[in-house]
Amino acid sequence: MNRVLEGNVRAGSLAAKTEFVPVGEPPRNQGSGDVFGQNREELNRESLQSKTQDETASWRGSMKRAIRSAGELRRHLNLDPPAGDSDGSDAEDHGFPVFVPLEFAARMKPGDPNDPLLRQVLPLPEEANSPDGFSSDPVGDLHAAVAPGLLHKYHGRALAITTGACGIHCRYCFRREFPYSENSSRGDHLELALKYLRENDSIEEVLLSGGDPLTLTDDSVAKLMQQIESIPHVRRLRWHTRMPIVIPSRVTDAWIERMQASRLTSWVVVHCNHPAELDSDTGAALMRLVDAGVPVLNQAVLLRGVNDDVDVLESLCRRLIDLRVMPYYLHQLDRVRGAAHFEVDQECGRALVSQLESRLPGFAVPRFVCEQAGQASKTRL
Ligand SMILES: *Cc1c(COP(=O)(O)O)cnc(C)c1O
Ligand code: SF4
Repeated sequence: MNRVLEGNVRAGSLAAKTEFVPVGEPPRNQGSGDVFGQNREELNRESLQSKTQDETASWRGSMKRAIRSAGELRRHLNLDPPAGDSDGSDAEDHGFPVFVPLEFAARMKPGDPNDPLLRQVLPLPEEANSPDGFSSDPVGDLHAAVAPGLLHKYHGRALAITTGACGIHCRYCFRREFPYSENSSRGDHLELALKYLRENDSIEEVLLSGGDPLTLTDDSVAKLMQQIESIPHVRRLRWHTRMPIVIPSRVTDAWIERMQASRLTSWVVVHCNHPAELDSDTGAALMRLVDAGVPVLNQAVLLRGVNDDVDVLESLCRRLIDLRVMPYYLHQLDRVRGAAHFEVDQECGRALVSQLESRLPGFAVPRFVCEQAGQASKTRL
């Protein structure tokens, strides 16, 4: 998901830390009255509350249990430590910490150092290379900010950086160096972002990005939605999230029900790069969204050693459309420092997409695009 790929828990960032406040209702008063004295509505409310708590405990537990170092990830997959790292404790994370939920690690092949899912999250020494043209803000996001945490680059839609936290840290992320603590629309900042949205009635769609908006709790998400709902000219919300892919239990009933109750139309854009990311739990979570009437699109990033292969891309697109998820964009890598080893030549990308066109239904072929600072939209390649 380039563009709107989500970010990451920046080491020590304020935004990241504030996400981990436990939600939860106060404990129920055990001794008071008997259950038969309650009316149906109260019973329903209680069962909804405890369902919400269970749901929340589940995905937040996954965040807590996530793998947080290269050494731990290697041990988890029975991989040898890199040469010269005799205790296997840790490799350099190049300032961008490892973060991999166990659900995602479970889809990797143990013992395979070239596993395409592993490659997306394991730091390599190549990250130290920084050829010309690779920078910390490759797409000029810092110049597109119209309020703290609000980017307005394209007509009719504005992108809110709701948090710096993500459910996984992708090594190629174009926001791996984004200064989230000064640039997310939270707290005091949120007021300024909302003010801009209120005063610009050309904006009819608000993109919730980050970081990943679904690392916020359902309560925070509901509050944010309420604030956006109060702006009359906003008609749509677009959720840019990798959570349904990496921690499928984040697709909670509470979130789905909140979207259904909103006057805003929600679209969800997930980020999946390889067919092996789509296991049965992920597939079920995506289908639940679609069954609930929420359209789901996918964006992928073209990545060397991950999906720069026509069979892999074809299989990814097929699985997506079988789940009723539309392949939307295939992004050319944004040239962020530390990700040069993922870059695929543009010519090669074009050839892959034209081969896809000869193999797949038209609607299953993603648009191959890149992000160019100063343009009015993504650029077709
Ligand atoms: C990519 C992006 C969007 C969304 O573009 P679409 O082509 O509508 O998907 C919106 N705002 C910003 C800042 C973006 O980078
Ligand atoms: S999910 Fe990955 S690509 Fe998306 S913002 Fe987070 S780290 Fe970046």
